[in-house]
Amino acid sequence: MRNRVNQALKLIYPDACPLCEELMAEPGRACKECIAKLCFVGEVSCARCGKPIEDEEQEYCNDCGSLTRSFIRGYPAMEYTDEIRSCLMRFKYGSKKGYAGFLASMIIKSQGTKLLALGADALVPVPVHRTRLKERGYNQAKLLADELSGYLGIPVRDDILLRQHKTLPQKELNNIEREKNLKKAFISRVNKVEYKRVILVDDIYTTGATIEGCTRVLHSIGIPEVFYTSVCIGKGY
Ligand SMILES: [Zn+2]
Ligand SMILES: [Zn+2]
Repeated sequence: MRNRVNQALKLIYPDACPLCEELMAEPGRACKECIAKLCFVGEVSCARCGKPIEDEEQEYCNDCGSLTRSFIRGYPAMEYTDEIRSCLMRFKYGSKKGYAGFLASMIIKSQGTKLLALGADALVPVPVHRTRLKERGYNQAKLLADELSGYLGIPVRDDILLRQHKTLPQKELNNIEREKNLKKAFISRVNKVEYKRVILVDDIYTTGATIEGCTRVLHSIGIPEVFYTSVCIGKGY
């Protein structure tokens, strides 16, 4: 009976690969071929943000070498390629909340050992502005953090940070404007937290301004060590 119900449900809600959207025999998985196309971050990466760099001799990427970075280290799972871009778009804007499990498993596959070794006190999802939360119905970073929590055994704290302004896209701004934009973007919802180390969670790391903004707020409430993880990181040298 249960099997027949499952079969019927499958016709209504078929399991599709989150990457190519082809129907899958195994629910909640992606095709091996699709996973093989993803560019997981290797050992040669920026010692700060975790972005892949071509020159092994280089310690930091150009951004981290020239901009203020208050977080200690980033552990992004993969580069932002076409394969993952469309998947993330559906996850964020196409109501594909169910992708969270798959995307978190990709973070674990790529960076799980390192994240676990941090022994962090909590996972802190990057908040979205409440207007955006209303439109979308969910915070994609919170969904990822919830899934990661299951793997890492670390609690999720989504009650610490608040996004108070809908910020302008960073790439349209110069450095001074970026700094201003960043300062007003996030505030804390608590005065102090007795944590030594937390991991920020987001779907994508681009300019680093979001993670930097969140880190500064976390420092201001007494959390000294901030790391981050994300599904993707934009490639750049
Ligand atoms: Zn596929
Ligand atoms: Zn970097």
